[in-house]
Amino acid sequence: MADRKTKCLVVGGGPVGALAALYAAKRGWEVEVYDLRRDLRDDSTTPLNFTKSINLALSQRGVNAMRESGADGLLDSVLADTIPMYGRMVHGEDSKGSLTEESQLYDVHGRYQRAVDRGALNKTLLDHLEGLPNVNLIFHHKLTGADFNKKKAWFERKGSDKSSDRPKEVEVSFDIILGCDGAHSSVRYHMMKYVRMDYEQSYIDTLWCEFTIPPADSSDTTATTASAKDGFRTSPNHLHIWPTPNDMFIAIPSIDRTFTCTLFAPSATFAELSAHPESIESFFRTSFPGAADLIGPDLQTQFQQNPHLPLISIKCSPHHYTASGVILGDAAHAMVPFYGQGMNAGLEDVRVLFSHFDSHPTTPAGRAAALEAYSTERVPDAHTINDLAMGNYWEMHAGVRSTWYLLRKRVEEF
Ligand code: FAD
Repeated sequence: MADRKTKCLVVGGGPVGALAALYAAKRGWEVEVYDLRRDLRDDSTTPLNFTKSINLALSQRGVNAMRESGADGLLDSVLADTIPMYGRMVHGEDSKGSLTEESQLYDVHGRYQRAVDRGALNKTLLDHLEGLPNVNLIFHHKLTGADFNKKKAWFERKGSDKSSDRPKEVEVSFDIILGCDGAHSSVRYHMMKYVRMDYEQSYIDTLWCEFTIPPADSSDTTATTASAKDGFRTSPNHLHIWPTPNDMFIAIPSIDRTFTCTLFAPSATFAELSAHPESIESFFRTSFPGAADLIGPDLQTQFQQNPHLPLISIKCSPHHYTASGVILGDAAHAMVPFYGQGMNAGLEDVRVLFSHFDSHPTTPAGRAAALEAYSTERVPDAHTINDLAMGNYWEMHAGVRSTWYLLRKRVEEF
């Protein structure tokens, strides 16, 4: 017998939650999306953890997941605001102290990754959800508890909404929760009380801080590299890397001709630079040749004003509980960002999950079997991509320069 209309709570309206809601809506489910933040499309909302938004590498994994959502025009509108990155541009200095750039293409056939603004991608996904009759977007609500047997969840209303006469806590019933609430997932925390979930969390001794390279200024040609073009201070079609044995600086292009950059360095380096801000510029000049000039005079201010954030890696198993809950995206497998696949893998989770729903009956028993099959398939994949991300840290900050790497490249080219 067919299930009645499935009531689905999506907790977290980030990229993964918004895509999951689109997939659920397409199947006729009654969907409610809850996010603790205000609506991202309200310009006054500061993205969680970021000063504006970060640029991410969108790969085929993420593209395929959006394509298969069935949402009209979604992929076209997302791709319209992306920039192709055909390879890495490794920046350095030769023995005479002149700046060098080495383009290392990702693919001999010209395939590429795309630079995408996380906030813009998220907004596009929310826009596609907005008009759907079976979707309700509820912002400023934080999940505080869930009973996965009685199928009830509790949300705290946040911010100015609190002052109204409405109750501060709301109780919502559900058939299934899709937990897409990020690395510090509340859904995962509550689900752990019901399922024997193995859980592993680690922080690496590396912090990150965001910087911005402004667009090229026609009156100043000194702060550009040889590959600069189209109003960008360096090549817009590469992911730029300044590798060193201990630190790394990267830059990803944005459609406004800026670059969103990230400094990755050990916590001790951050502590040293924070204690001696006058040394920030010389640290950059020594470690990342050319980067200080690309950023410009507010390099020190950017380091001091932008947050210094940790990097977490999470593995857990299983990712679901019976027919009533499943975690996706960073909630299930937050990873260090060095493989550029965190969000992409989260979007792929959605595609894989719904392929299992589609191949099982639309009953609670069918849903439980689909979730079981999903965890069985997805947990090993999530662990593997997590390990690859950790391994790619070495590749990006040291491997791109090592003799072994260069030798391997020569052999590949031969
Ligand atoms: P999130 O983006 O964390 O969204 C979770 C949502 O849940 C948020 O909106 C939050 O407000 C909401 N929420 C949290 N708790 C609750 C609650 N209790 N109740 C209700 N709502 C809640 N990935 C890539 O694919 N490519 C890259 O190039 C890349 N680069 C990165 C660079 C850096 C420096 C970092 C830090 C990450 C990078 N990532 C990259 C990873 C990527 O940012 C994440 O994997 C992605 O944002 C995860 O999406 P998500 O929707 O699962 O979680």
